[in-house]
Amino acid sequence: MNETILIDESGKRTDGRSIDELREIKLTIGVLKKANGSAFIEFGKNKIIVAVYGPREVHPKHMAQPDKCVLRCRYHMSPFSTDTRKNPAPSRREIEISKVIREALEPAVVLEDYPRAAIDIFVEVLQADGGSRCAGITAASVALADAGINMRDLVAACAAGKINNKIALDINDVEDKEGSADMPVAYLPNLEQITLLQLDGILNKSQFTECLEKALQGCKMVYEIQRKALMEKYFGNDLSLDDENTEEIKE
Ligand code: ADP
Repeated sequence: MNETILIDESGKRTDGRSIDELREIKLTIGVLKKANGSAFIEFGKNKIIVAVYGPREVHPKHMAQPDKCVLRCRYHMSPFSTDTRKNPAPSRREIEISKVIREALEPAVVLEDYPRAAIDIFVEVLQADGGSRCAGITAASVALADAGINMRDLVAACAAGKINNKIALDINDVEDKEGSADMPVAYLPNLEQITLLQLDGILNKSQFTECLEKALQGCKMVYEIQRKALMEKYFGNDLSLDDENTEEIKE
Protein backbone atom coordinates (compact mmCIF):
# COMPACT_ATOMS: atom_id res chain seq x y z
CA MET A 1 0.00 0.00 0.00
CA ASN A 2 1.30 3.46 -0.94
CA GLU A 3 1.75 5.84 1.97
CA THR A 4 0.18 9.32 1.73
CA ILE A 5 2.69 12.02 0.79
CA LEU A 6 3.66 13.59 4.10
CA ILE A 7 6.95 15.18 3.01
CA ASP A 8 7.06 17.19 -0.23
CA GLU A 9 10.01 17.54 -2.66
CA SER A 10 11.35 20.54 -0.75
CA GLY A 11 11.43 18.51 2.49
CA LYS A 12 8.44 20.27 4.08
CA ARG A 13 5.84 18.36 6.07
CA THR A 14 2.04 18.83 5.84
CA ASP A 15 2.17 21.61 8.47
CA GLY A 16 5.18 23.31 6.86
CA ARG A 17 7.77 21.98 9.31
CA SER A 18 11.14 20.47 8.42
CA ILE A 19 11.95 16.92 9.47
CA ASP A 20 13.78 18.03 12.65
CA GLU A 21 11.39 20.77 13.69
CA LEU A 22 9.26 20.80 16.81
CA ARG A 23 5.75 22.27 16.72
CA GLU A 24 5.40 25.62 18.48
CA ILE A 25 5.03 25.13 22.25
CA LYS A 26 3.44 27.60 24.66
CA LEU A 27 3.52 26.71 28.33
CA THR A 28 1.78 28.74 31.04
CA ILE A 29 2.14 27.84 34.69
CA GLY A 30 -0.31 28.47 37.55
CA VAL A 31 -3.54 28.88 35.58
CA LEU A 32 -5.99 27.39 38.11
CA LYS A 33 -6.71 29.07 41.43
CA LYS A 34 -8.04 26.05 43.31
CA ALA A 35 -5.38 23.52 42.30
CA ASN A 36 -2.10 23.31 44.22
CA GLY A 37 -0.27 23.37 40.90
CA SER A 38 -1.37 23.77 37.31
CA ALA A 39 -0.21 24.33 33.75
CA PHE A 40 -1.68 24.94 30.32
CA ILE A 41 0.21 23.71 27.28
CA GLU A 42 -0.29 24.38 23.60
CA PHE A 43 1.85 21.83 21.75
CA GLY A 44 1.09 22.65 18.14
CA LYS A 45 -2.69 22.31 17.98
CA ASN A 46 -2.89 20.24 21.18
CA LYS A 47 -4.42 22.22 24.04
CA ILE A 48 -4.12 20.55 27.42
CA ILE A 49 -4.71 21.72 30.97
CA VAL A 50 -3.16 19.95 33.95
CA ALA A 51 -4.20 20.30 37.59
CA VAL A 52 -2.24 18.88 40.53
CA TYR A 53 -3.83 18.39 43.97
CA GLY A 54 -1.79 17.34 47.00
CA PRO A 55 -0.01 16.03 48.85
CA ARG A 56 -3.31 15.23 50.53
CA GLU A 57 -5.07 12.51 52.50
CA VAL A 58 -5.72 9.25 50.61
CA HIS A 59 -9.28 8.07 50.11
CA PRO A 60 -10.01 5.19 50.41
CA LYS A 61 -7.52 4.97 53.31
CA HIS A 62 -6.36 1.41 52.55
CA MET A 63 -4.78 2.75 49.32
CA ALA A 64 -2.22 4.70 51.40
CA GLN A 65 1.41 3.53 51.50
CA PRO A 66 3.20 3.75 54.88
CA ASP A 67 6.57 4.70 53.40
CA LYS A 68 5.71 6.82 50.37
CA CYS A 69 3.18 8.89 48.55
CA VAL A 70 0.71 7.45 46.05
CA LEU A 71 0.75 9.20 42.68
CA ARG A 72 -2.58 9.02 40.85
CA CYS A 73 -3.14 10.21 37.32
CA ARG A 74 -6.17 10.69 35.10
CA TYR A 75 -5.74 11.47 31.40
CA HIS A 76 -9.05 12.46 29.84
CA MET A 77 -10.07 13.75 26.41
CA SER A 78 -12.99 16.14 26.43
CA PRO A 79 -15.90 15.23 24.09
CA PHE A 80 -15.03 18.24 21.88
CA SER A 81 -11.28 17.52 21.67
CA THR A 82 -11.43 15.52 18.42
CA ASP A 83 -13.14 15.84 15.00
CA THR A 84 -15.97 13.51 15.90
CA ARG A 85 -17.52 13.71 19.38
CA LYS A 86 -15.55 11.56 21.78
CA ASN A 87 -17.51 9.55 24.32
CA PRO A 88 -16.67 11.23 27.66
CA ALA A 89 -16.49 7.86 29.48
CA PRO A 90 -12.90 6.66 30.03
CA SER A 91 -11.79 4.49 27.10
CA ARG A 92 -9.20 1.70 27.20
CA ARG A 93 -6.80 4.12 25.50
CA GLU A 94 -7.30 6.77 28.20
CA ILE A 95 -6.82 4.17 30.97
CA GLU A 96 -3.57 3.06 29.34
CA ILE A 97 -2.35 6.64 28.84
CA SER A 98 -3.20 7.52 32.46
CA LYS A 99 -0.98 4.61 33.55
CA VAL A 100 1.96 5.46 31.28
CA ILE A 101 1.85 9.14 32.28
CA ARG A 102 1.96 8.14 35.96
CA GLU A 103 4.88 5.79 35.30
CA ALA A 104 6.70 8.50 33.33
CA LEU A 105 6.36 11.01 36.19
CA GLU A 106 6.91 8.74 39.22
CA PRO A 107 10.73 8.51 39.02
CA ALA A 108 10.95 12.32 39.11
CA VAL A 109 8.89 12.77 42.30
CA VAL A 110 10.47 12.26 45.75
CA LEU A 111 7.60 10.02 46.87
CA GLU A 112 9.30 9.13 50.19
CA ASP A 113 8.92 12.73 51.34
CA TYR A 114 5.13 12.34 51.58
CA PRO A 115 4.31 9.02 53.31
CA ARG A 116 0.60 8.08 53.64
CA ALA A 117 -0.37 10.93 51.27
CA ALA A 118 -1.62 11.10 47.67
CA ILE A 119 -0.85 13.43 44.79
CA ASP A 120 -3.55 13.59 42.12
CA ILE A 121 -2.77 14.70 38.57
CA PHE A 122 -5.58 15.52 36.14
CA VAL A 123 -4.61 15.81 32.47
CA GLU A 124 -7.56 17.25 30.57
CA VAL A 125 -7.22 17.34 26.79
CA LEU A 126 -9.26 20.21 25.33
CA GLN A 127 -7.97 19.75 21.78
CA ALA A 128 -5.98 16.78 20.48
CA ASP A 129 -3.67 16.70 17.49
CA GLY A 130 -1.28 13.79 18.00
CA GLY A 131 1.33 13.54 20.74
CA SER A 132 -1.10 14.43 23.51
CA ARG A 133 0.49 12.06 26.03
CA CYS A 134 3.88 13.77 25.54
CA ALA A 135 2.30 17.21 25.86
CA GLY A 136 0.41 16.00 28.96
CA ILE A 137 3.57 14.67 30.64
CA THR A 138 5.46 17.89 29.84
CA ALA A 139 2.71 20.06 31.38
CA ALA A 140 2.15 17.71 34.35
CA SER A 141 5.81 17.87 35.29
CA VAL A 142 5.81 21.68 35.55
CA ALA A 143 2.42 21.59 37.33
CA LEU A 144 4.01 19.28 39.96
CA ALA A 145 6.85 21.79 40.36
CA ASP A 146 4.25 24.59 40.61
CA ALA A 147 2.56 22.64 43.44
CA GLY A 148 5.88 22.74 45.30
CA ILE A 149 6.31 18.96 45.19
CA ASN A 150 9.89 17.82 45.84
CA MET A 151 11.31 16.59 42.55
CA ARG A 152 14.55 14.98 41.40
CA ASP A 153 14.22 16.39 37.88
CA LEU A 154 11.65 17.65 35.41
CA VAL A 155 10.17 15.20 32.89
CA ALA A 156 10.25 16.37 29.28
CA ALA A 157 8.45 14.37 26.62
CA CYS A 158 8.44 14.32 22.83
CA ALA A 159 7.77 11.78 20.10
CA ALA A 160 9.59 10.93 16.88
CA GLY A 161 8.36 8.64 14.16
CA LYS A 162 8.65 7.35 10.61
CA ILE A 163 6.85 9.11 7.78
CA ASN A 164 7.49 8.40 4.08
CA ASN A 165 10.40 6.21 5.18
CA LYS A 166 12.16 9.10 6.97
CA ILE A 167 12.57 9.61 10.71
CA ALA A 168 10.86 12.84 11.75
CA LEU A 169 10.61 14.76 15.01
CA ASP A 170 7.32 15.39 16.83
CA ILE A 171 4.62 13.51 14.91
CA ASN A 172 1.27 15.29 14.53
CA ASP A 173 -2.18 13.70 14.14
CA VAL A 174 -2.08 13.26 10.33
CA GLU A 175 1.47 11.87 10.48
CA ASP A 176 0.45 9.53 13.30
CA LYS A 177 -2.48 8.16 11.29
CA GLU A 178 -0.91 8.15 7.80
CA GLY A 179 2.72 7.50 8.75
CA SER A 180 4.26 4.17 9.64
CA ALA A 181 5.66 4.56 13.18
CA ASP A 182 5.24 6.74 16.27
CA MET A 183 7.58 6.61 19.28
CA PRO A 184 6.66 8.74 22.30
CA VAL A 185 9.53 9.23 24.77
CA ALA A 186 9.74 10.87 28.20
CA TYR A 187 13.12 11.79 29.65
CA LEU A 188 14.66 13.16 32.84
CA PRO A 189 17.24 15.53 31.28
CA ASN A 190 19.51 15.96 34.31
CA LEU A 191 19.41 12.34 35.49
CA GLU A 192 19.61 11.17 31.84
CA GLN A 193 16.89 8.60 32.46
CA ILE A 194 14.16 7.48 30.05
CA THR A 195 10.81 7.01 31.82
CA LEU A 196 8.54 6.36 28.83
CA LEU A 197 9.32 4.56 25.60
CA GLN A 198 6.50 3.27 23.43
CA LEU A 199 6.44 2.30 19.79
CA ASP A 200 3.42 2.05 17.55
CA GLY A 201 4.62 0.69 14.20
CA ILE A 202 7.64 -1.19 12.92
CA LEU A 203 11.24 0.07 12.71
CA ASN A 204 14.44 -1.77 11.87
CA LYS A 205 17.41 -1.56 14.24
CA SER A 206 19.05 1.53 12.70
CA GLN A 207 15.71 3.33 12.34
CA PHE A 208 14.94 2.53 15.98
CA THR A 209 18.25 4.07 17.12
CA GLU A 210 17.75 7.15 14.93
CA CYS A 211 14.16 7.57 16.11
CA LEU A 212 15.10 7.29 19.79
CA GLU A 213 17.97 9.77 19.37
CA LYS A 214 15.69 12.23 17.60
CA ALA A 215 12.99 11.93 20.27
CA LEU A 216 15.62 12.54 22.99
CA GLN A 217 16.82 15.67 21.15
CA GLY A 218 13.18 16.78 21.12
CA CYS A 219 12.88 16.12 24.87
CA LYS A 220 15.93 18.34 25.47
CA MET A 221 14.32 21.16 23.45
CA VAL A 222 11.07 20.71 25.41
CA TYR A 223 13.05 20.84 28.67
CA GLU A 224 14.44 24.27 27.76
CA ILE A 225 10.86 25.52 27.25
CA GLN A 226 9.79 24.06 30.64
CA ARG A 227 12.77 25.66 32.36
CA LYS A 228 12.08 29.04 30.76
CA ALA A 229 8.37 28.90 31.70
CA LEU A 230 9.23 28.14 35.34
CA MET A 231 11.82 30.94 35.41
CA GLU A 232 9.31 33.39 33.96
CA LYS A 233 6.65 32.39 36.49
CA TYR A 234 8.88 32.71 39.53
CA PHE A 235 11.40 35.38 38.50
CA GLY A 236 9.52 37.39 35.88
CA ASN A 237 10.99 38.05 32.47
CA ASP A 238 14.45 38.93 33.75
CA LEU A 239 16.20 35.82 32.51
CA SER A 240 19.56 37.62 32.59
CA LEU A 241 19.79 36.48 36.22
CA ASP A 242 19.66 32.85 35.07
CA ASP A 243 22.65 31.58 37.06
CA GLU A 244 21.72 33.36 40.29
CA ASN A 245 18.13 32.17 39.95
CA THR A 246 19.29 28.61 39.44
CA GLU A 247 21.33 28.87 42.65
CA GLU A 248 18.26 30.10 44.55
CA ILE A 249 16.19 27.19 43.24
CA LYS A 250 18.88 24.73 44.39
CA GLU A 251 18.79 26.19 47.92
P1 ADP B 1 -1.17 10.58 21.41
O1 ADP B 1 -2.16 11.71 21.44
O2 ADP B 1 -0.37 10.49 22.67
O3 ADP B 1 -0.31 10.60 20.16
P2 ADP B 1 -2.51 8.32 20.17
O4 ADP B 1 -1.35 7.97 19.31
O5 ADP B 1 -3.33 7.21 20.77
O6 ADP B 1 -2.04 9.24 21.39
O7 ADP B 1 -3.53 9.27 19.38
C1 ADP B 1 -3.10 10.11 18.35
C2 ADP B 1 -4.15 11.12 18.06
O8 ADP B 1 -5.33 10.50 17.57
C3 ADP B 1 -4.65 11.93 19.27
O9 ADP B 1 -3.77 12.95 19.66
C4 ADP B 1 -5.95 12.47 18.74
O10 ADP B 1 -5.70 13.60 17.91
C5 ADP B 1 -6.46 11.31 17.90
N1 ADP B 1 -7.43 10.52 18.66
C6 ADP B 1 -7.20 9.74 19.73
N2 ADP B 1 -8.35 9.19 20.19
C7 ADP B 1 -9.34 9.65 19.40
C8 ADP B 1 -10.76 9.45 19.36
N3 ADP B 1 -11.38 8.68 20.24
N4 ADP B 1 -11.45 10.10 18.39
C9 ADP B 1 -10.83 10.88 17.47
N5 ADP B 1 -9.50 11.11 17.48
C10 ADP B 1 -8.75 10.50 18.41
